[in-house]
Amino acid sequence: MIMVNENYAKLQASYLFSEISKRVAAYQSENPEKNLIRLGIGDVTEPLPPACIEALHLAVDEMAGRATFRGYGPEQGYDFLREAIALNDFQSRGAGIDASEIFVSDGAKCDTGNIQELFSQKLTVAVPDPVYPVYVDTNVMAGRTGKAVRGRYQKLVYLDCTEENNFVPTPPAVPVDLIYLCFPNNPTGATATRAELKSWVDYAKEHQSIILFDAAYESFIRDPELPRSIYEIEGARDVAIEFRSFSKVAGFTGTRCAYTVVPKSVMGYTRKGEAVALHAMWNRRHTTKFNGVSYPVQRAAEAVYSEAGKQQVKALNDLYLGNAGIVREAIGALGYAMTGGVNSPYIWVNTGRDSWKFFDRLLARAQVVTTPGGGFGRCGKNFIRISAFNSRANVEEAMGRIKRVLR
Ligand code: PLP
Repeated sequence: MIMVNENYAKLQASYLFSEISKRVAAYQSENPEKNLIRLGIGDVTEPLPPACIEALHLAVDEMAGRATFRGYGPEQGYDFLREAIALNDFQSRGAGIDASEIFVSDGAKCDTGNIQELFSQKLTVAVPDPVYPVYVDTNVMAGRTGKAVRGRYQKLVYLDCTEENNFVPTPPAVPVDLIYLCFPNNPTGATATRAELKSWVDYAKEHQSIILFDAAYESFIRDPELPRSIYEIEGARDVAIEFRSFSKVAGFTGTRCAYTVVPKSVMGYTRKGEAVALHAMWNRRHTTKFNGVSYPVQRAAEAVYSEAGKQQVKALNDLYLGNAGIVREAIGALGYAMTGGVNSPYIWVNTGRDSWKFFDRLLARAQVVTTPGGGFGRCGKNFIRISAFNSRANVEEAMGRIKRVLR
């Protein structure tokens, strides 16, 4: 008899997106003539930047010639990409990250999910509420939580993100070991200032905690005062691991490329109190379980940092930010309080009532699909997330419909 990992039985059903699909499918089958606009999921709609396409084509041609063909590459990523990342995303912003501290991967979802493997079962884990569900579910699978009781897992420390704290949690009064933070945030769209991030870095230093910082949406930051990386905060190199992705930056959701930064100065400890570099541990894990991102995709990611690539990526992100502005304008005109949509592609709207009821109303009356916030955590119960990832025409049409329905 094979015993299974019973922690999986603690996982709550992925109620959110399956329930949305069910309701959307039911509506569509009863109303086949209606044209739905989807502002629910966080997938991009616009094609890859031309610089990336050109680099992909060139790399594919290289794969066709014996002299230029490439087989297995370095598991951590090719130097050309790691160096471009270190220079453009960190060193140019005063963050002292070296190329050897970058681990290229096929997604921030896998990396944010896998990172917890490096740590003991006994750690206390803090997660924001609302939360990107991967942080929670992977710790449940690993057995770091108790059962879910009324939507919250026992043993996890939830960091409430509410209107009162501008959706940026302050460090808890109790000591916690691992802290997941995400800015710009999914789902709230909130951003954190330097002072706010510094308070977390100071907390982590004081309590010997580690911050797992998800910056998958950093490319949407336009305010020059806002940090794009946690390593722009002094001392963060000793206490933080950062996750980045080309998914939203450059439309790589289907192409797959991301990276994780593990500075050599971040330490964990053995039971005897000996320091262990997490860089060495992640390197061991990565090289054992991963065989690298394909060469053409890494060339396409490198092209994001070319002069043409930078301009195209900015234009791409500006298109979505423009959409976010249109959403904010429409929702604001209707009198709803919201956050996000500035320096971020998500708008988090306080509907003042149960978010599923609001979702149903928008679906039935405006034929617009949003995401009910309750699926991201208890603090999201009365909120919906509207995503700016769609064409300009669809966003304008959706907001016109919503204004007509809710006015
Ligand atoms: N982190 C956050 C906060 C996200 O919202 C997403 C995707 O939606 C990811 C990570 C996953 O990114 P990737 O496509 O690189 O796996």
